Amino acid sequence: MPSIFTKIINGDIPCYKIAEDADNFAFLDINPNAKGHTLCVPKKEVDKIMDLDEEAYMKLMSFSRRIGKAIEAAVACKRVGMSVIGLEVPHVHVHLIPLHSMKDATFQHKENLNSEEFETIAEKIRNYLK
Ligand code: 5GP
Repeated sequence: MPSIFTKIINGDIPCYKIAEDADNFAFLDINPNAKGHTLCVPKKEVDKIMDLDEEAYMKLMSFSRRIGKAIEAAVACKRVGMSVIGLEVPHVHVHLIPLHSMKDATFQHKENLNSEEFETIAEKIRNYLK
């Protein structure tokens, strides 16, 4: 059965899309640690990041860096943090999180955004990718 992220990539489940290229897809996390929290996901479904082949791993990191720079430009924050967890969704994803303090990196505190706020922040990030 396809993962929830494969369903998002295929357009079967909606998301606030940020960008895609041939190999990777980026969209806003639906339960963000902070406004602008983005997930970068390889289109090829692999569970654990250490199981990606070297090329797929390097492409994911390069894609994530490009998206992270746009987030840093679009969202007021001290820096953009990057983490890989994968305990909830068994499909590799890089979390890019605008950090204001350590609590944003802990996955304990969550930000409540309405759909308009999600769309506004997605649009802002997308504008820095043009
Ligand atoms: P992890 O697997 O790294 O522990 O966390 C999975 C992340 O995916 C969580 O931050 C969660 O909010 C996010 N997530 C889970 N399901 C969905 C979904 O359907 N849409 C979006 N945009 N994010 C999701």
